[in-house]
Parts: sequence; structure tokens; C-alpha cells
Amino acid sequence: MTRVKCPICKKPAEAKWLPFCSKRCADADLGHWLADDYAIPGEPAPADAFDPSAED
Ligand SMILES: [Zn+2]
Repeated sequence: MTRVKCPICKKPAEAKWLPFCSKRCADADLGHWLADDYAIPGEPAPADAFDPSAED
């Protein structure tokens, strides 16, 4: 028997929701992943970072 702790709230996990203890924590983790995904934007090209005519 393995004893798994819910990574969200550290309570003993339920087999039904492994590795979480409840649907609530499973959803919380999913939301975290989705939020992370949305937090990664396409990095905008720094057009202003390079200006070869700045000094001559
Ligand atoms: Zn939990």
C-alpha cells in the first residue's frame, strides 16, 4: 500500500482522486496548470533592444 499525500493540501490522498485527496484539489491543480499555460505568452521581439544606429 502506498501512502500518497495530496500535493495541494497535504491530506492523505483518496484512491479515486490520486494523487489528490478530493475533486476540489484535483481541480485546483488543473487550474494551476491552465493558469501557468496562459502565463506563457509568445515572447515579443525586442525591436527596441537593438539599435545599430544609436551611436556613430
Ligand atoms: Zn487536497
